[in-house]
Amino acid sequence: MAGKRVLVREDLNVPMSKGAVADDARVRAAAPTLQHLAQRGARVIVMSHLGRPQDREPDLSLKPIAADLARRVGREVQFADDCVGEPATSAADRLQSGQVLLLENVRYHKEDEANDAGFARRLASLGDVYVNDAFAASHRAHASVVGVAAYLPAYAGELMETELKALRQALDNPRRPMVAVVGGAKVSTKVGVLRNLLRKVDSLLIGGAMANTFFKARGWPTGSGLVEDIALEEANEVTAEAGEKLVLPVDLVCARKMESGEALRLLDADKVEPGWMALDIGPRSVTLFTEKLRGAGTVIWNGPVGVAEIKDFSDGTREVGEAIARSGAYTLVGGGDTVAAIESLGLNGRFSHVSTGGGATLEYLEGKELPGIAILKEA
Ligand code: ADP
Ligand code: MG
Repeated sequence: MAGKRVLVREDLNVPMSKGAVADDARVRAAAPTLQHLAQRGARVIVMSHLGRPQDREPDLSLKPIAADLARRVGREVQFADDCVGEPATSAADRLQSGQVLLLENVRYHKEDEANDAGFARRLASLGDVYVNDAFAASHRAHASVVGVAAYLPAYAGELMETELKALRQALDNPRRPMVAVVGGAKVSTKVGVLRNLLRKVDSLLIGGAMANTFFKARGWPTGSGLVEDIALEEANEVTAEAGEKLVLPVDLVCARKMESGEALRLLDADKVEPGWMALDIGPRSVTLFTEKLRGAGTVIWNGPVGVAEIKDFSDGTREVGEAIARSGAYTLVGGGDTVAAIESLGLNGRFSHVSTGGGATLEYLEGKELPGIAILKEA
């Protein structure tokens, strides 16, 4: 490793506010791989995307992240104003053993998302080996994730390994009983997840607005709650396939508007009245879910069971989260809004693994092969 130029793809796509890093969870998650490579004397060259630039918008520069990365890695981090061409090659050439270089946003070049072979070759020319540590970007067949592996031997970074180990432990050889809790807004974005998990789990607990679509599919009234009419058939198919495994809420916290301070009513799941919308699961549903979770061997959780962003509708998510944390099971949590919810509800640090991948985690849970992981097997 000593002296080798190691080209590392990280996902440093952090939320920014006024030119500064607003939440550096992804920087912290990336740091160990970079730290250990540098400690072993590698010349570490880091690439990442930030946002979705149309052009070279200055507010999507990775430059402000270099300082944060340096603090987390515990070493100086140099910065190159472009990820290819002269700024990149000269900075990479100057880089000494044990030093770290961060390249500018790879998406400043359209060729990254297009997985352009010439662009991938130019990126790859900066390194001797390639390490993919960007689990959260590995569902994307982009040049900086996938394309470079055509030109360099490709390995998994530590974060990638941690993610894959957790997902495999939960999905491939689960301690039973295995319970999945799936919530969130839409059935259509998660029907693949539901179908794949159904093949594996002993119980499937569904909450959130998603449950409304299941209720309507059985002919129950859903008031003005969020329902996806295009997914009614899929909801019926999942219901039939799931049989006894499926557990839906039995009572619902309803309001007339999705706002805090509204009058609330607790209604039976089959008796939601016109003008009222289900925004959280009720206490009897929490008890029902908790009974299923108690004694579980493995729990996979994706999707808040209510509008967890609004305090009035966050009790269900907090209590289900508590029940998952207390279950004694191997617990895996994933999904952008779910991770945000556990942070805001103070459930941090209570689960076996919290995945850093939003879309990537969902695709993995769907049973799809992620292109950024597939190339690691070949290499
Ligand atoms: P994740 O990002 O963790 O995969 P989703 O994006 O699928 O989760 O779902 C989160 C969204 O679902 C949140 O914005 C939340 O407000 C919404 N949601 C959950 N329950 C309801 C509900 N009953 N009515 C409307 N929206 C809901
Ligand atoms: Mg989401």
